[in-house]
Amino acid sequence: MVTAFYRLFYDTIKGGDYRARESNVYRLSEVSNNIIDQCVAQGVPFAREYGGSLENRSLAAPRFRVRSFARGQTGKQLLLGSYGALSRQIKLGTVKLYDRHEMMDVVIIDGKARGIIARDLITGKLERHFGHAVVIATGGYGMVFYLSTNAMGSNTSAIWQIFKKGAYFANPVFTQIHPTCIPVHGDYQSKLTPDERKSAQ
Ligand SMILES: Cc1cc2nc3c(=O)[nH]c(=O)nc-3n(C[C@H](O)[C@H](O)[C@H](O)COP(=O)(O)OP(=O)(O)OC[C@H]3O[C@@H](n4cnc5c(N)ncnc54)[C@H](O)[C@@H]3O)c2cc1C
Repeated sequence: MVTAFYRLFYDTIKGGDYRARESNVYRLSEVSNNIIDQCVAQGVPFAREYGGSLENRSLAAPRFRVRSFARGQTGKQLLLGSYGALSRQIKLGTVKLYDRHEMMDVVIIDGKARGIIARDLITGKLERHFGHAVVIATGGYGMVFYLSTNAMGSNTSAIWQIFKKGAYFANPVFTQIHPTCIPVHGDYQSKLTPDERKSAQ
């Protein structure tokens, strides 16, 4: 029997050109329902059937209709949902946000990551932050390329710092240049048709 779990696993592996790490995709498939439930609880307005259940489509992935979506705004709506939930925790006092800060280095004590050194990008002041554990979530490094919609800080600084201190580093080839970054340069680029472009001018 083809289960929903199998469909998502298979489709994600195929959609990733068989390059994704299978154990990670397996785990993603296992917890995907919980992830969608959490996003819904955070207010993400996924598309729904008239009966109220979540609508699924085969977006980007080739075979099965397994993707939830929010019109053409899925990424933006996920961002708004998670940012809203984060803001709530900041107000409740469970999270302290340091915006406009750049991590400069990770502090290792007895072989374990126990904090970071960060720079306040407004005042230039260096700060120490201690933690029992350190999670690095600094994304990819698209800003090394001329065209990128990544955050300005996504420039390898954090990756390089932690790699030097012994963190594992894998798959540097997975750096995305997204088609939406590329300015239209000719009629063969599938963006707007020549007629659409003329009427947009
Ligand atoms: C145009 C575009 C469209 C996409 N569309 C989709 C889609 O439809 N579906 C999909 O699944 N994925 C999509 N993706 C991919 C997806 O958005 C990314 O894989 C995902 O956002 C990565 O999340 P992340 O938290 O790992 O990193 P990021 O979201 O990049 O977050 C990293 C953060 O770390 C910060 N940072 C970096 N270095 C430092 C430092 N030294 N100190 C402090 N902070 C630092 C950055 O400022 C940034 O805020 C898209 C990506 C792009 C660019």
